[in-house]
Amino acid sequence: MVKTIRKGEKILYVCEECKLKYEEREIAEKCEAWCSKYKTCNLEIIEHAVE
Ligand SMILES: [Zn+2]
Repeated sequence: MVKTIRKGEKILYVCEECKLKYEEREIAEKCEAWCSKYKTCNLEIIEHAVE
């Protein structure tokens, strides 16, 4: 499950598999689906990470 965290005024979505944070829930969900399926990171997805 993608986790949400509050950072100041912003809500960030965290991939529970790789712990990367995203501003878009949709992208975080894609990342998590990818990570749990392939156990690797998809560079096209993680370039959207905020931290
Ligand atoms: Zn991930």
